[in-house]
Amino acid sequence: MEDKIRKASDLLLKSRFTTAFTGAGISVESGIPPFRGNGGIWARYDPKSLEYAWFIDHPVESWSIIKTIFYDYFGNARPNKAHLVLAEMEKRALLGRIITQNIDNLHQEAGSKEVFEFHGNSKRIVCLGCHRYYIVGSVSLDHVPPTCRECGGLLKPDFVFFGEGIPQSALSASYEAASLSDVFIIIGTTGEVMPANQIPFMAKSAGCSIIEINTEPSNYTGSITDIFIQGKAGEIMEKLGVELFSTPLDNDEDRIN
Ligand code: NAD
Repeated sequence: MEDKIRKASDLLLKSRFTTAFTGAGISVESGIPPFRGNGGIWARYDPKSLEYAWFIDHPVESWSIIKTIFYDYFGNARPNKAHLVLAEMEKRALLGRIITQNIDNLHQEAGSKEVFEFHGNSKRIVCLGCHRYYIVGSVSLDHVPPTCRECGGLLKPDFVFFGEGIPQSALSASYEAASLSDVFIIIGTTGEVMPANQIPFMAKSAGCSIIEINTEPSNYTGSITDIFIQGKAGEIMEKLGVELFSTPLDNDEDRIN
């Protein structure tokens, strides 16, 4: 383990542009369960509540489940060491960009700036009538479904439901990151969700080195990962941070992060 962390740190310190690609696993130590696997959200709730067409036809039922999962249940989650080390890496020009599949806003709360959300953000709510945006605390969820103060339209969390398209800005930023990066650090994702799961494969095809942190092997581990560090994201990233931040940079002038 220590040897892998040292190798990962060496790669990151030499990299001119590094991208972090994160999934639900990075937020598990913040108390937010993943969708799949033991204790996953889909073991308790039916994924159809997040299908766009079902939401439109059943806004009361769908909003009741969404409110329980995304607002009552993980509304108070705070960033953990993994989010914080990534934010510190960005500050020290060791990380260029984060592409996240998560919708929990924890990268931004940790202080990261260059965050591209593949699946939107649960802290924003959008009116399907007039497209006005609300911040989550400004909308009462006491009675569901919530409606727009301006036009009375149905409000929807601004994350990507099954059956909806991926935000164009996230797609463009991901393609660019795949071609621009020397190193991808993949944290806490199964690599099962299309089309986000293709981004690391594109990066590898473009010549990128892949570091992966996960408690379990993923779709990437046996195929494109160069350094697999098995364990909890917060614990591993804390160790990686100690290694990275105590080592002087030797190629600062080349860095474009
Ligand atoms: P997933 O739920 O399919 O898989 C979670 C992955 O995290 C697994 O590979 C698991 O082994 C790993 N993992 C679990 N605990 C970990 C830990 N402590 N440290 C490191 N790794 C750990 O998640 P996914 O691959 O990201 O895809 C599911 C989709 O679900 C995402 O696109 C995302 O939109 C959504 N989602 C988001 C959140 C969130 O915002 N926090 C939570 C659940 C699901």
